[in-house]
Amino acid sequence: MNITAYYQKSVQEVMKEFDVTQQGLSDYEVRQRHKENGFNELEEGKRKNAIQVFLEQFNDFLVIILIVAAAISAFLGELESSIVIVIVIVLNAVLGTVQHIKAEKSLDSLKEMAAPIAKVLRNGEVIKIPSREVVVGDVLYLEVGDYICADGRMMESYRLQVNESSLTGESEAIDKIEALIDKEELAIGDKRNMVFSGSFVTNGRGRAIVTSIGMATEIGKIANLLQNAKEKKTPLQMNLDHFGKRLAIGIIIICLIIFGLDILRGRELVDSFMFAVSLAVAAIPEALSSIVTIVLAFGTQKMAKENAIIRKLRAAESLGSISVICTDKTGTLTQNKMTVQHMYVNEQTLKADRANINNALHKNLMSMALLCNDSISTEEKEIGDPTEIALLNWSKLYNFDEGNVRQQYFRVGEMPFDSNRKLMITIHRINNRYMMITKGAVDELLSRIVRMETSTGISPINIGQIERIKQANHHFSSQGLRILAFAYKEVDSPIVNMEMEQDLTFIGLVAMMDPLRPETKQAVEDCIAAGIKPVMITGDHKTTATAIAKEIGIVEGPQEVMEGKEIEKLSDIELQDIVENVSVYARVSPEHKIRIVEAWQEKGHVVAMTGDGVNDGPALKQADIGVAMGITGTEVAKDASAMILTDDNFSTIVKAVSNGRSIYTNITNSIMFLLSGNTGAILVVLYATILALPAPFLPVHLLFINLLTDSLPAIAIGLEPHNKKVMKEKPRDIKEPLLNKKFAIQVGLEGFLIAAVTIIAFQIGLATGDTMVATTMAFATLCLSRLFHGFNCRSKESIFKIGLFSNITVWIAFLIGVILLNLVLIFELFDVAAISRSQLAMIYGLAFVPFIVIQIDRFFLAKK
Ligand code: ADP
Ligand code: MG
Repeated sequence: MNITAYYQKSVQEVMKEFDVTQQGLSDYEVRQRHKENGFNELEEGKRKNAIQVFLEQFNDFLVIILIVAAAISAFLGELESSIVIVIVIVLNAVLGTVQHIKAEKSLDSLKEMAAPIAKVLRNGEVIKIPSREVVVGDVLYLEVGDYICADGRMMESYRLQVNESSLTGESEAIDKIEALIDKEELAIGDKRNMVFSGSFVTNGRGRAIVTSIGMATEIGKIANLLQNAKEKKTPLQMNLDHFGKRLAIGIIIICLIIFGLDILRGRELVDSFMFAVSLAVAAIPEALSSIVTIVLAFGTQKMAKENAIIRKLRAAESLGSISVICTDKTGTLTQNKMTVQHMYVNEQTLKADRANINNALHKNLMSMALLCNDSISTEEKEIGDPTEIALLNWSKLYNFDEGNVRQQYFRVGEMPFDSNRKLMITIHRINNRYMMITKGAVDELLSRIVRMETSTGISPINIGQIERIKQANHHFSSQGLRILAFAYKEVDSPIVNMEMEQDLTFIGLVAMMDPLRPETKQAVEDCIAAGIKPVMITGDHKTTATAIAKEIGIVEGPQEVMEGKEIEKLSDIELQDIVENVSVYARVSPEHKIRIVEAWQEKGHVVAMTGDGVNDGPALKQADIGVAMGITGTEVAKDASAMILTDDNFSTIVKAVSNGRSIYTNITNSIMFLLSGNTGAILVVLYATILALPAPFLPVHLLFINLLTDSLPAIAIGLEPHNKKVMKEKPRDIKEPLLNKKFAIQVGLEGFLIAAVTIIAFQIGLATGDTMVATTMAFATLCLSRLFHGFNCRSKESIFKIGLFSNITVWIAFLIGVILLNLVLIFELFDVAAISRSQLAMIYGLAFVPFIVIQIDRFFLAKK
């Protein structure tokens, strides 16, 4: 049987096959199809369920050794200690599972927030839905910047061009058509009346009927092969994994030595083995990488609440080292709520509300502002580009009837605004003639103008008139206003081509204001205080950009401003030489952005770059952190980005950087806590082994410490509330490893303090002549001093500066630890000996010492 492919069928046939009407699908049909075909998503590698996650916790070298140890001690009749080991292992696994699932949930909710959107026709209405809800038979609406989320047959193409490079490798855009293609076995790239999931619209607009979704699409067939591509670990996690492995090997070697020495001294084989294993478990910080996951998961959750959605986890980490933020002006620094302020017609500057509707020139300019305009009014609000909405509102002020005017001068052709050309063309039918209207940037338009319309009629434009237009332009733009020039000409055909854009007749200028966002100035100030350079990148006029940049404090002198065409004249090396001195780029095209990012990166900076359009994709990908606009951004820009701003606001980026820095600091502190405490434990054991003293801890004690005084406070420290101070420091050097020399020294010193007090307690205990008392005192002191030390690790600052009670979770972790420890002491569990009150007081006193010493040190350091 020869199956006819959809591209070989007519639109009507395909519509019939999928039961689609001009109204699109109904809710009932959609539900039915969801039931039949599922959702439009590529299957990820199978998700693990809670039980699998739980079981996975046991798949760990140390845990396996522990289980073996438990089995051995059970076999030898020491039931109590094997029960304790089992309890510890199970609790550890439960804790690990809960953390894993919590982290995964919060990351899932992030994913959901960043989910791609599709526009479909349902019940006769075009609505936006998450792409995963698209079903076969849906009518997809496509426009510039949209990601195509399913395979479909074109119904209507209005110069629709699509980039299919993800499927075909071909980066040239493909023109899409509606007509049926009567050929067999076409390659994907030749099915020009089909669109494919994974491609995106670079030009024009159109509609398509969805013919396949999810794994049935062409990309789904490819995805099938690469299914197991998991989200990679972040650089920090990989680093810690690597470090953790080496550390584990080191600790295991130490444990082997201790094991050997114990045996040599005639200690029981099983006891020595158990002890060595427990020491390894206690000393190896197995939680390192999962601490990062948890802190990142919670941190990104907080960022999402503050309007920054992290799409790539490693971004949350590198945010803290950003040293340059390249930002769009319009909509990010400003509100993107434009209003027309002034006009320039008939060689006169007028306030926008002083137009005279009976003046033919005024009326013409306003009609053109309404016609060469894609924005529309609906009952609630205006929809479209804010620049054009401003024009629409302006004409409404003078009671222009949008519908009437647009009907009367029907649009028959167009070339949409594009940020490279900075112009837009529409062609309208007027009786039997065609009129072309162009609006756009003054400098782009002026070179194409040969005539000017004034109250005396249309005549060739002279140098004086051009000069005066330029003056008006300068006058407006130096107030930070955005300016559009309008021109027109009669043409023979409704088909637009580039050659048409000349011999135009100038009619006037319109200047509009876009107020700054109220937070912008402060955010720029914070940014600079944090050692981050804000750079403005805009398609707007140089003078306009400079005026605004000055107002918000990005720029001081005109030498810091550069235009796109100047960038073009520079080689990459020349651009690198000046890039650090330029704060504003005006009249740039998206292609310039990528060069700016690269130049900064060459200079050793970590760069964040904002973007919204299709053409911003490459620059967003090149930047260390691509930041897409959530409101005005295209799906393509979002897909290329590492972070999405749900409010399009510059100050949100600065907030995200602050969060990024805090996250990093918290991770560092948490690791400091784990490593210094573990060092303390090892030092004590080494001391006892070298001096041939009895073992200072029983295996059970080490496991107890591992579970209670390791994991819980470490997590709590990772959740330390963010401190504004992080924005007073310079950005962190991304190449500087977290575990540098300074860090190692601090770990050593703090570990030494903990070891010292524990050894003193141990010696005091030994002095009583009862080894059990000595062990008990050493165990309790180590456990308690680590719990106290948790408060040190919350910050590098004095505890009283950051507030003793500002992190309640640390208190909870602390109290849980203290209560359990006291229960163990009171009920003499785990082979602890009964101790006197004065001994208990001594334990508390000694355990408090490291905390006091470190706090006093900080106090004096701060004084200096
Ligand atoms: P940005 O987004 O950085 O402000 P744009 O690329 O949107 O810059 O705009 C650059 C210039 O193009 C503006 O200064 C304006 O003159 C012109 N322009 C902007 N929007 C439109 C539009 N919808 N139609 C025609 N020209 C426009
Ligand atoms: Mg714009």
